[in-house]
Amino acid sequence: MSNTDEDTPIAALKTRVAEFARDREWEQFHTLKNLSVALAVEAAELMEPFQWLEGEQCDELLRDPAKREAVEDELADVVIYALQIANRGGVDLAVAIDRKMKKNARRYPVDLAKGNSDKRS
Ligand SMILES: [Mg+2]
Repeated sequence: MSNTDEDTPIAALKTRVAEFARDREWEQFHTLKNLSVALAVEAAELMEPFQWLEGEQCDELLRDPAKREAVEDELADVVIYALQIANRGGVDLAVAIDRKMKKNARRYPVDLAKGNSDKRS
């Protein structure tokens, strides 16, 4: 398997996490509810090092190799659970992301949203 975003298809990542779970017979625990909860827990773990820091301090934190690796580990956990949810639910992530980005583009047209962080309902 390749090691960079540029040459690693999403399908290869989905297969890798599926095989990891299958080898350990963990699929029985991987309900959509359990996987969604696990993703939320990992998202909280990703946020933890940034808690109480300001914007530039967060960037500075990533310049420390050990702290950067810890953040990357938690980000990987989030994505791994997202991939497992996609596997369990039969979701094609490229299709889902494409559809959602089109919705986002309609919701946040460039001429209205440029330089503006306001949420639109
Ligand atoms: Mg974690």
